[in-house]
Amino acid sequence: MRNPSLLALLFFFATSSTAPAATTVIRFGRLVDGTGRVLTNAVVVVEDDKVQSVATGSPPIPSGAEVIDLSRYTGIPGLVDAHTHITYYWDGVTIPRTEPPRHPAVVVVLAQENARKALEAGVTTIRDLNAASGTDLAMRDLINMGKVVGPRMFVSGTAMRITRSTVPIAPVGIMVDGVDAVIRGVRQILASGADWVKMHGSTGGFDDVTQLQTFTFEEMQAAVRATHALGRKIAIHSYGPAGARDAVRAGADSLEHGADLDDETIAAMARQRTYYIPTVDHNQVYVDHDDTVFRFPPGAKDRLRDYIQRNVETVRKAFRAGVRIVMGSDAVYSGWGLNTRELDWFVKIGMTPEQALKTATTEPAALLGMEKSLGAVAPGFLADIVAVEGNPMSDITAVTRPEGVRWVMKAGRVVVDKTK
Ligand SMILES: [Zn+2]
Repeated sequence: MRNPSLLALLFFFATSSTAPAATTVIRFGRLVDGTGRVLTNAVVVVEDDKVQSVATGSPPIPSGAEVIDLSRYTGIPGLVDAHTHITYYWDGVTIPRTEPPRHPAVVVVLAQENARKALEAGVTTIRDLNAASGTDLAMRDLINMGKVVGPRMFVSGTAMRITRSTVPIAPVGIMVDGVDAVIRGVRQILASGADWVKMHGSTGGFDDVTQLQTFTFEEMQAAVRATHALGRKIAIHSYGPAGARDAVRAGADSLEHGADLDDETIAAMARQRTYYIPTVDHNQVYVDHDDTVFRFPPGAKDRLRDYIQRNVETVRKAFRAGVRIVMGSDAVYSGWGLNTRELDWFVKIGMTPEQALKTATTEPAALLGMEKSLGAVAPGFLADIVAVEGNPMSDITAVTRPEGVRWVMKAGRVVVDKTK
């Protein structure tokens, strides 16, 4: 670790994880509660890890309660980033994906920095889709134990891929070919303790924007059935239309990435309520950070820009067709902290700021099966609350500007405070 202040910060986080005050009262100038209401002069009462009540004006304050005055800010529900890679850590020196091999325990410690950046962006829950050696499982559990401070994690363990010799770097993923191997792969992933299954249904990733379908329809269907048989959900990655068509036809719960989707697939997604996590911005991050961080081969930026345009066009079509769209950053390496920039794209394709905010609150909460405890600031919900400057209902950049997030509470505990 090059930066001693980071070490101090990690230590701070580790030691500040004491039990929260039993009752906390928070005042907001405005509260966007996630249920469709916007309250002025809101008062949120938090008891332990949950919201107890939401009111306006001057309700009686429970005796002994700690009062936090955030009346300068707007409160919003803690955000959910539904597609991340928290264990992809950038040390600021090496070129991503050429870093030296690291012991899994080292990865877990280093990735706490990504966890902190997520919280600072207002992200209190993530769905992490592919990590090696159980590092995601370890982080999820350490965070749930209160030993590491970070977003609540739903994880897929190691993703499933087909055997392929064209992957540029030693591939990360369980190699499975054929229906039987896929079924065994799913069972192995879930037996390891993963919450989700992730399958790579096509090529594509980093500077590679190819769209070749990998798993067959039969393999995808076997994966979906084996996952659902064990009461879990499956995310299928597809950069292109062929893999997406079969993923949707096979009954995937969520489709990741996806450009050039055909109208029939989009209509099926709307009908089947397949969640679509387009991850537009991660390619923009690659473009923006290519010269300084990723150092892709020549021509990569042009290919990425072209893919972004087609990805955006697909999101626009899907939105118009009524597909359930969810914010996923696909954050890796230097993309951490920029997790919510995806919302700017959603507004660009025609969503209102309110609709965009839903893609990071109530929609992903439902995707995760957590719709009764995440995605809203409401009685009985987990107290995940973010204070931002400005009004996100009229300007989404109130949420997406990194410096706009001033304060974050996760499960009743203050994890970010930049109000002073
Ligand atoms: Zn990804």
